This record gives sequence, C-alpha cells and structure tokens, in this order.
Amino acid sequence: MLVAWLAGCSAALTPVTPEQAEGLREAQRIADQVTKAYGVPRVRVYAVATRPSVAGSYSYQYDWIFIRPQRLTGNEFWVVLSHELGHATLGHGRPLAGPPEQIRATRTMQEAEASRRGVEIMVRFGGMTEREALGRYATYLIEANRLRDGRNLPILSGHQLPCDELRDLWSSFGQTAPPCEAFTSTPHITHCPYDDWMSTGCKAGEFLEPWRLP
Ligand SMILES: [Zn+2]
Repeated sequence: MLVAWLAGCSAALTPVTPEQAEGLREAQRIADQVTKAYGVPRVRVYAVATRPSVAGSYSYQYDWIFIRPQRLTGNEFWVVLSHELGHATLGHGRPLAGPPEQIRATRTMQEAEASRRGVEIMVRFGGMTEREALGRYATYLIEANRLRDGRNLPILSGHQLPCDELRDLWSSFGQTAPPCEAFTSTPHITHCPYDDWMSTGCKAGEFLEPWRLP
C-alpha cells in the first residue's frame, strides 16, 4: 500500500538539506557494501518522510529503503539505516500467512532480529565496537520512549515498546540494558548509564556533571 502510493507520487520525496544529502550518499555507499557482503540484492536508499512516526522502512518488493531526512544525520543515522539493512539482509517484509497472533509474533521476532543484525552491521561496516553500537541503539530507544512520554501509544506493526526492545536487544548480546523508563517525564541523571552517553564522553557509572548534560 505504502509503496504503491509512493511510486505514483514522486513529489512525496522530501527536500533535503546539504547535510542530509551527504547522509543519503553515505547511506547508499554503506548499503552497497552491506548487501554485497551478505549476498542479497542491492537496495536503493531514498530520503522520504512517510508518516510522522516512521523513521525508516524497507520494501522487499522493490529493494527500497526509505529513511526520514531528519534521520540521515546524527546518532539516528546508523541506528535507522542498520535496522533497515537488517531487514533487507534477513529477507524480511514478505507477506505472512497464518492466524493474526502468529503473524504478530513473527513480526515482533523479525524486528528484534533486524536490530541484532543492525548491531552486527554497525560493527562490521561502521568501525564501532559492539558496546558502542548497542549504546547508539540505547540512545535511540530511550529517546523514543521519552518522546512518547512512557505512554503505551499504538506502536508500529511488529514493534514492542521502545524500552522492551532495548532490554531484549541488550540481553541478546548478554548485556544488561541501561535504565530506560527512568528517563521519562522528570529525568534526573546523576551518573552515565553507559559509555559516552549522548556524546558527553562520559563513561558508564561515572558522575555526570550537570553542565555535561545535553
Ligand atoms: Zn523494523
């Protein structure tokens, strides 16, 4: 549905800033390396704002990845791109048959798998340690939880609540996730939850001086 609409409406392609355009070129370069290494068809990356709540999406029919222009820079760049490349390299997105609850369970599993593969991709192609990659996902998911103010808003098909996804992801790598819900409404952060929290250069457990808070 989404894809058919976009194919017939190229004006939906959003204007991008020079920095976002650079991010898009970088995203395509990384996507080419990743799809080649995993032996899957090449994907084309587009800067598209689909729905407000959607950071990125992958269409298996056309091998397209859509990324919201605002997510083509900063911390979110690697998280959103690597997650969508996770779907692409795992062959996700095909229609599923079966009872609705079984389909939901499979989609939830696929979302978790895509993020795990995303961490792997960040380590292999982004020159990050596993801990750094997990930290970027943590920053992203904690922020996603904060933006929804901890409320149980409707979430995208297959996705769990951000804090649940965070804990699942970290535990699948044998790690304990940093606090997530604690950041809702009145964040009172005295110590870094994990290394280099929000690019402050602060190490996990260190006292975080108030002036270093973003
Ligand atoms: Zn996904």
